[in-house]
Formats: sequence, C-alpha cells, structure tokens
Amino acid sequence: MTLSHDPTTAAPVQPKLGYRAMPESSFLPLGQPPQPIRLPGTDCLIKPKVPLSTLTSYRVGGPAELYAAPRTLEDLQLSLAWANDRGLPVTFLGAGSNLLVSDRGLPGLVICTRRLRYTHFDEETGQVTAGAGVSLVRLAWQAAERGWQGLEWAVGIPGTVGGAVVMNAGAHHSCTAEILVNTNVLNRSGEPSLLLPADLRYSYRSSSLQTAAANKDQPLRLVTEATLQLQPGARPDTVLAATTEHLDQRRNTQPYHLPSCGSVFRNPASHKAGWLIEQTGLKGYQIGGAQIAQRHANFILNCGGATASDILNLIRHAQEQVDRRWSLWLEPEVKMLGEFQAA
Ligand SMILES: Cc1cc2nc3c(=O)[nH]c(=O)nc-3n(C[C@H](O)[C@H](O)[C@H](O)COP(=O)(O)OP(=O)(O)OC[C@H]3O[C@@H](n4cnc5c(N)ncnc54)[C@H](O)[C@@H]3O)c2cc1C
Repeated sequence: MTLSHDPTTAAPVQPKLGYRAMPESSFLPLGQPPQPIRLPGTDCLIKPKVPLSTLTSYRVGGPAELYAAPRTLEDLQLSLAWANDRGLPVTFLGAGSNLLVSDRGLPGLVICTRRLRYTHFDEETGQVTAGAGVSLVRLAWQAAERGWQGLEWAVGIPGTVGGAVVMNAGAHHSCTAEILVNTNVLNRSGEPSLLLPADLRYSYRSSSLQTAAANKDQPLRLVTEATLQLQPGARPDTVLAATTEHLDQRRNTQPYHLPSCGSVFRNPASHKAGWLIEQTGLKGYQIGGAQIAQRHANFILNCGGATASDILNLIRHAQEQVDRRWSLWLEPEVKMLGEFQAA
C-alpha cells in the first residue's frame, strides 16, 4: 500500500486504496537500455534514471525517471515545453537542500536549475540580480566582500536563489520575502513572466510557489531569476565580520557534519519545534540510519545508510510523540516528493 505525496501533514494521511504504483518507466521504451536524449537544437541532455540521492543534501532518494539541468533560460524553456508536449509530470530541483525524495524516485522529468548561475550587482540601485542556480551562501559572501548589507543571515543556508524564493528561506529573524524585489518565472509551457512579492503570498517559510507545485490545478511556476534589494556602502570588513558571526553561531548550535535538510519542522507559534522534540525525550532517537540530532532536535541526520522511509518514519514518530505529549501536530518544513510506502 502506498501513501500519496505528503504523508506527514495535519492528521495522518490515510492510505489510498488502489493508488497506482509508479511504473518502472512510464516514458522510456521498455526493454531498451536507457540512453540520454539530446533536447532538439540544444546541447542540453535529458538523462534517464539519474539517482537523486546524489543531488539532495539528505543523500537519499531513488532515481529521476528523466533529468535535465539546463544552463540557459532558452534551454529551460525548451525542457519545459518538451515535457509539456509529452504530458510528462515535471518536478523542480534546486540544490536539493530541503527535500525528502522517496526511495522509489520520481516519475517524469526533474528539471534542476542549479546550473543557471549569473549575478549582477547594480551599484546605482543596490539591487543584485541572480540566476536561480546561484548558491545563496556564495551570494551572501559576494555581497559582504563588496560591503553590501542585507544577506548576512543567509550564509548558513545551503540552497539556491530559486529555492530561497520558493521556500521563503530565512534565518536570524530575516527572510527572502523582505528583500525580494521581483522574480522571473516560467509557466508549464515555458512562457516567462515577472512576479512581485505581493503575487507570492509570502509567510513563514511559505509562498504560493509551493502550493502551485503541490496542487495540479494551479499553474506550475519555475523560478529562473530573482532581484534582491541590498544596502551598499558599508565597510566590507564590517559586513564580512557580521556574516562570519552568523555562520559561527550556526556551526556551534546546528549539526553540519552529517547529511540533513536543516530544520525538519516549521516552528509552531507557541514553541520552537526543536524544544518540543527535545522535551519529548527524542534527542538521539534512531530509526534505521536516521537519527534525531543530539545537537539540535529539529534536525534529522542521515547517519549512514538511511533510506527516505527511515527518515519519514522518524518524522512520523516525532509528530506522534509530540502530539501525545503536547497536543500539537508538527508541520514539516521539508518537502516530500514522490510516493512513500505506508509504515
Ligand atoms: C544544513 C542545512 C541548514 C539549513 N538551514 C536553513 C535555514 O536556516 N533557513 C531556511 O530557511 N532553510 C534552511 N535549510 C533548508 C534549505 O536550505 C532551504 O529551504 C533552501 O531555500 C532550499 O533551497 P534549494 O535550492 O536547496 O531548494 P530545493 O530543496 O531543491 O527545493 C525546495 C523546494 O523548492 C522548489 N524549487 C527549487 N528550485 C526551484 C525553482 N528554480 N523554481 C521553482 N521551484 C523550485 C522545489 O521543487 C521544492 O519544492 C537548511 C538546509 C540544510 C541542509
């Protein structure tokens, strides 16, 4: 029996009887060894059976049925149109630092934006424009080196600019929504449009871009670029010192030594999720290769050989135990992709 794609939210999701298991391959011809397909008119390859465990920070998950990582906007547009013409499901991937991909992998085409990397710092406006694939950590250091303030908080977040726009990534009481000027997106057919923060219904670690990905009735939006408002004119050594301080503080309080997705659960209004889990006595609790971190209870670590199912079962266990003790159901921040077996 399988569970549909978000098995951890609100009340536990009931297994759907008769849910169709993902076929071994719904697109590739049966009986033939899978070969990369060249996207017509480009040098972009669409590769079959790419292991997503190598592309996510948890280091778990099965293969993408098909995978493309275009380097240009045009190739991204063509990839989307290619999948759309074939009626393939499409999933977007940044640095994979907030994802739990099912051990079964993902059907259809996974489009990764991590190769879309360029930055432009506009000295007149104090705005930086970055491709979706730019590393947020790298951007924070680049801004600091120029003496531009406003991204010091982002230095410990190992995602891309695209992922930050979608997740409303944040830390140290700051977040992406506060500095986003606008973002360029593509729809399912590859047509571009420019969205403003007001279009994205931002709240804590949430945006309408996430809802769109989860709900088939909503239009898909692929983030290709974002412009952020920073404050130039400070001394670089001052901004570098503040950035380093943020990084040190995180390294001292969070476990960066083993694969994880950062915080697993959103913080409820009343208490920090990590505190609730710690007070429930779950620090160090382990299922398979997945363990609730000793250093920070809102982190689940892959201690070696964990499967996505181990991690999901540990997420469920924490939700149930916290609910039993505090009558509070923790909502995951990590995005679950694919189908998961019922425990
Ligand atoms: C050690 C560690 C520490 C972390 N600390 C923090 C923290 O302090 N604060 C915080 O907010 N997060 C934190 N995270 C989580 C994560 O880094 C952020 O959520 C980050 O913004 C995710 O970016 P990504 O590029 O990895 O996105 P992914 O994980 O690849 O994707 C996240 C979601 O965005 C979608 N997506 C990604 N790229 C695009 C795109 N170009 N267009 C459309 N959709 C897209 C995906 O489909 C998915 O739904 C941490 C993670 C780790 C491993």
